[in-house]
Amino acid sequence: PPDVEELGRASWTLLHSITATYPEKPSPQLQSETKTFMGIFAKLYPCWYCAKDFQQWMQDERNAPRVSSRDEFGRWMCEAHNHVNVRLGKKEFDCTLWEERWRTGWKD
Ligand code: FAD
Repeated sequence: PPDVEELGRASWTLLHSITATYPEKPSPQLQSETKTFMGIFAKLYPCWYCAKDFQQWMQDERNAPRVSSRDEFGRWMCEAHNHVNVRLGKKEFDCTLWEERWRTGWKD
């Protein structure tokens, strides 16, 4: 099986990059497909205990994917990642900076 840390870094890169190119005004169809995608992603994630936890987190109605705009989806993904960060004893990321990190690049 793939290394859980390497898989994680590659997966977060993919997931945050998807939010970075997500439309500012997604159609109702795309919003619905995006929710479905996240549900299936969580189910198929190739680290079984990660998948189990991520599915449980997403099943709480407060954590249901928010996909109504790029900013909403980007922040939701950041919160999802922070859930895992906290679980692993890592520092929480400041979600006001998600776009700078994943879309526009750091301003420094
Ligand atoms: P990562 O956490 O992989 O982050 C990569 C980069 O993303 C960071 O360097 C930072 O620049 C940026 N970043 C960090 N936090 C955020 C944020 N909140 N929003 C936006 N950008 C951010 N590992 C386990 O051991 N157990 C698990 O149960 C587990 N569950 C996972 C569930 C999912 C769905 C995924 C995708 C990964 C999971 N992982 C799990 C892997 C774990 O999250 C890390 O990817 C791995 O530990 C490597 O961590 P890292 O410190 O290199 O950085």
